Amino acid sequence: MKTIVILTGAGISAESGVKTFRGSNGLWNNYRIEEVASPIAWERDPELVLEFYNQRRKQLFEVSPNTAHHALAKLEKKFDTEIITQNVDDLHERAGSKNILHLHGELKKARSTIDPSLVYELKDWPLNIGDQCEKGSQLRPHIVWFGEAVPAIMDAIQIVKKADIFIVIGTSMVVYPAAGLINYVSNEAKKYLIDPNAEEVSGIKNLTVIRKNAGEGVPKLVEELLEMGEL
Ligand code: NAD
Repeated sequence: MKTIVILTGAGISAESGVKTFRGSNGLWNNYRIEEVASPIAWERDPELVLEFYNQRRKQLFEVSPNTAHHALAKLEKKFDTEIITQNVDDLHERAGSKNILHLHGELKKARSTIDPSLVYELKDWPLNIGDQCEKGSQLRPHIVWFGEAVPAIMDAIQIVKKADIFIVIGTSMVVYPAAGLINYVSNEAKKYLIDPNAEEVSGIKNLTVIRKNAGEGVPKLVEELLEMGEL
């Protein structure tokens, strides 16, 4: 079976109603990153940080996967399929995809501030001051903040090296180390980039750029790949 590796960013969830990161209506136009998504912000004003992520989490309980998330789940019928996502939402999971690596954490999880191995599933949207881990420390969002290491990146590199087909969807490719993953894909692998605002890309072999919204571009490509099957 051939291996398809997919790297997704905020753009794949845009048509579900989850705001992207940058762009004209981007999330960060209303907030300053350093005020809500960094270890310094957490130290300075944990209540504001929790409130920011509580709002994001509340919104996540109100949205659903779109046609792009659903289409990707179908690939598993014919391919070894691995999704590496920069997204902190759970829309790939809810669409039925099985192998998902979250590079930047997960909105519906919280973790201990003294023991990062203690991670908890959140059943509801608010995480409050006073919510503690079993060792008695305040819980924080299970999110990789700006300035923090990306622990899953080594696993992601191993995954992209296996790709026969590599698909990038809805990411501005400016947030590292995720943006560098494409450099680990083999020259022989077929590569696709689906993003309505994709810029010219040079120096990447076998790359097809599809300047369409994920909701249109992804189902079409998935259909083509499923027809191609093992060829
Ligand atoms: P980004 O906002 O920097 O880029 C989004 C990209 O999506 C842009 O290139 C844009 O052209 C494209 N896009 C917009 N609408 C699209 C559509 N309908 N179909 C396809 N593409 C579309 O996002 P990024 O590159 O993922 O930035 C990374 C950071 O943003 C990550 O750290 C991630 O954790 C965070 N983030 C995640 C979510 C989420 O979980 N849904 C939402 C906002 C931000």
